[in-house]
Amino acid sequence: MKNFEALGLSQPLLDGLAEMGFETPTEIQQQSIPLLLQHDGDFIGLAQTGTGKTAAFGLPLLDLIDLNSRETQALILAPTRELAQQICGQMEQMSQKLGKLNVVPVFGGANIMNQIRDIRRGAQIVVATPGRLMDLMKRKEVNLDSLKFMVLDEADEMLNMGFKEDIDFILSKSDGGRKIWLFSATMAREIKRIVDTYMVQPEEVRINQENIVNTNIEHKSVQLKASDKIEALRRYLDYDADMFGVVFCRTKRDTQKVADELNNNGYATEALHGDMSQAQRDAAMKRFRDKNLKLLIATDVAARGIDVDDITHVIHFALPDDPEFYAHRSGRTARAGKKGVSLALITKGDTRKLKYIASKLGISFAPGEVPALEAITQKRITRWSENLKNQEVNPKISDELMSTVIAEFDEVSKEDLIARLLTKEYNSIYKRNSIKDVNDRSKGRDDDRGDRGDRGGRRDRGPKNARGKEEGMKTYFVNLGRKDNINKGALLGYVCDATGLTGDDIGRIVLDGAHSFMDVKQEVAAQMEKLNGMQRDGREVRANEHHGQVTESRDRGDRKGGGGYKGKHDGGGGFKGRRSDDSKSGGGYKGRRSDGDSSSAPRSGGFKGRSTKTSDDSSRSRSSKPSGDKGRSKFFGKKWD
Ligand code: AMP
Repeated sequence: MKNFEALGLSQPLLDGLAEMGFETPTEIQQQSIPLLLQHDGDFIGLAQTGTGKTAAFGLPLLDLIDLNSRETQALILAPTRELAQQICGQMEQMSQKLGKLNVVPVFGGANIMNQIRDIRRGAQIVVATPGRLMDLMKRKEVNLDSLKFMVLDEADEMLNMGFKEDIDFILSKSDGGRKIWLFSATMAREIKRIVDTYMVQPEEVRINQENIVNTNIEHKSVQLKASDKIEALRRYLDYDADMFGVVFCRTKRDTQKVADELNNNGYATEALHGDMSQAQRDAAMKRFRDKNLKLLIATDVAARGIDVDDITHVIHFALPDDPEFYAHRSGRTARAGKKGVSLALITKGDTRKLKYIASKLGISFAPGEVPALEAITQKRITRWSENLKNQEVNPKISDELMSTVIAEFDEVSKEDLIARLLTKEYNSIYKRNSIKDVNDRSKGRDDDRGDRGDRGGRRDRGPKNARGKEEGMKTYFVNLGRKDNINKGALLGYVCDATGLTGDDIGRIVLDGAHSFMDVKQEVAAQMEKLNGMQRDGREVRANEHHGQVTESRDRGDRKGGGGYKGKHDGGGGFKGRRSDDSKSGGGYKGRRSDGDSSSAPRSGGFKGRSTKTSDDSSRSRSSKPSGDKGRSKFFGKKWD
């Protein structure tokens, strides 16, 4: 394996890498860096997220641009503002020994004037989301005369997010001899189109796609109701004392909710999502790295690049739509030759998606079960016994104290003593846990209708459930429609870029000729107001909350792009969408309460022992008295066996 020195990078960059603790180049870095440093043409890097792509293009870029010039020489496009910021941060770190570098991030949802001011100061590298860059280019605020490199990072993701037209605009308007370096996880049809249209005989580096899913990962799935998922996490945490994992949710809101509920019940967990400040995120990551947390509850974007060793479990609180995301998530475990578990908590409607992920990635999911309380009890009591047996006796305990206590227990047999200690532990387990079986043993449907409790991801809404407004959403009117030469994907991309919202925050989109309606999660809906006053193709954009019915003209030309609204109108022109909260309709658990009373414990496997009263003659008859008279050696400096 090569080291960084062998790749041809300059000394200041090598020094910067040493400071960052990067010792060995990743596969994509080993293959791309020498090529990009020498090859004076276009380039395609096919690799997953988290493989070290940023340094793979960032390092050669830093060595190839002229730091003595303040002109913009490289543009890096990224799908989200989080990624754009992350790239900037890493470029700054890598260039720490180079000096004179000015990298400016620009993305929607932030004050454009500040960004313009930063660019005017002289940015050798601009890292941008497509919508905002297009805006800046139209305002002629990015001077492309000296542009040498255009990097498209996560190009497939940018296209998934509806930035196709923006990317076309940017690439077609920046064709002054610049080289294109395109990074993508897949060579999807649209990527191929970009390559064919804009790139010239690109060199290609492909990281072995078959090896994406590490064979040391055991993939498991458990089927349960969406409303039981948090209980399931508690059970796993109770069952496995050594669990150290990342739980992936689709939305920031779910992330926070899961972390809060677990924390309130005494489990050391923390959320990691894009609404937290950098300082909060760093603090959460530090606590996780230091193993002060059992679980980190994260969104895909926030968890990008988490490189913590020894993660035992990756738990998919909700499955991602994209198999690539599954591969990326599960790759957080089983690092450095270790084993790990990737566990999908699925509802019965997720069956088809699970099969799709399995077939795309060439993996199989072993059906698992959420541990029953009996199993947790067994395991915890065994652990408790082991710990008690291995407890070193404190030599500071005086003989007097020992004798006093021994005298206290004079009448108590060893069995009774154990039974009492056990009762305390046993009751604490039953107090904390419900006894219900949270496994959903019904047969999974082969459709995509499940998981109402953790929905929110726009892309997992099939046509059937994309009709009505979902609970917790507000509808917004936006004065952009098909006549503005926009489709749903492009609209979504534009709005996300301009407001800072993500695809997960946005639900139904209804696109009409002159306007559109978008459903936005209530708690972040105010961000839609940022659209007001923005300019798009010389027109002022307006967005207002809409309280009436949502209608759509019959003349709908928006058939392209797929995945759009295909629901039927109701008689009155409104939507008859199903409610998305059928997790509530299942009637919930109506069984016994788990109130900590050991009488409510299940019969099987529970402790069926005797009463712990000292008057239990049958136990006393078998008892042997603790022999306090055998003196100190029996108790001190030894393990109690
Ligand atoms: P990326 O795919 O660029 O997002 O990188 C994923 C993660 O790996 C980031 O946290 C990087 O800081 C880290 N990383 C990238 N290259 C290396 C390397 N050669 N050695 C150690 N960490 C790296």
